[in-house]
Amino acid sequence: MVKIPATLIPGDGIGPEIVAATVAALDALGAPFEWDTQSAGLAGIAAAGDPLPPATLASIRRTRLALKGPLETPSGGGYRSSNVRLREEFQLYANLRPAQTLVPGGRFDKIDLVVVRENLEGLYIGHEHYIPIDGDPHAVAMATGVNTRQGSRRLLEFAFEHALATGRKKVTIVHKANIMKALTGIFLETGLELYERKYKGRFVLDSVIIDACAMKLVLNPWQFDVLVTTNLFGDILSDLVAGLVGGLGMTPGANIGTDAAIFEAVHGSAPDIAGKGVANPTALLLAAAMMLDHCRLADEAARLRRALCATLNIDAVSTGDLGGRASTADFTRALVKRIDADA
Ligand code: NAD
Repeated sequence: MVKIPATLIPGDGIGPEIVAATVAALDALGAPFEWDTQSAGLAGIAAAGDPLPPATLASIRRTRLALKGPLETPSGGGYRSSNVRLREEFQLYANLRPAQTLVPGGRFDKIDLVVVRENLEGLYIGHEHYIPIDGDPHAVAMATGVNTRQGSRRLLEFAFEHALATGRKKVTIVHKANIMKALTGIFLETGLELYERKYKGRFVLDSVIIDACAMKLVLNPWQFDVLVTTNLFGDILSDLVAGLVGGLGMTPGANIGTDAAIFEAVHGSAPDIAGKGVANPTALLLAAAMMLDHCRLADEAARLRRALCATLNIDAVSTGDLGGRASTADFTRALVKRIDADA
């Protein structure tokens, strides 16, 4: 197998632990990637004085493919989020976040949802400032959200094409156009127009207001299939749907652009459990499966997903967040054994 050059960013907190587990699983699958390991986040500051060092950017520019652990943004010090900067730098406009039940019998069973989140616009871009009044430097806080027709259209087109390519039956546009008539109205209007013009009848298109969507997802998540939404709503909804399938340890994400793709877990660096060897690596492992699919290594992706299911359900090995007692290393050993057995 010719190895595919890819950038590997261990990241912060539990990042190095779950990245090590994921690399071990990929090694057992024949080591399809030739890693160029680079730093970012707090590790980037420690190694190169920059949360997004030039060498890391140059590596991704070369490989156009990365697997990354979570990155922490230091509060204060004027640093912008490295995640937001990476998405902007490589124009990773689509964030694909599937949530599927891997362990049956939880509070919600047989969940199979995808959140497609716009990744570059909206209120999330962090264009904020304060207005000082009467000696209070933070008397007024302001944030500017920006959604463009072109940005909305390319993300909606990505979501619609993804729905078609994966045989999904329904796409729901999630918005708040009743209140934020311009900012999220443009997204809804663009989606409805695109559907009428190009996709009508190929799947069902629906729309729902974000607050009602949150309630409906908890009451009856099975009514949804693909949820497509703006940046901040997508950020919140993807944690909500992670909760439907066992929590943040279970949901992967792919940041996709025209020039590069970066795969990661939905969760953050989990500082509360970092260094304890108890993190659940499943989310990043599922992100690696998405990366394999992206590189047209569908057999390896399927083997990895099968091994994960067998480890969790047949061997009943799981980490504490899922009610199990395995350490990250125990889980990885059991998973690698399953991958080897399925060779
Ligand atoms: P978090 O996702 O790191 O953690 C939330 C809770 O979920 C914690 O209790 C944590 O222990 C648990 N958890 C998360 N992942 C887990 C796993 N794999 N196994 C077991 N338990 C897990 O959210 P936070 O604490 O709000 O954020 C911590 C830092 O991560 C912040 O600096 C934030 O900015 C950053 N962050 C980064 C990314 C990213 O790099 N894509 C995403 C979200 C947050």
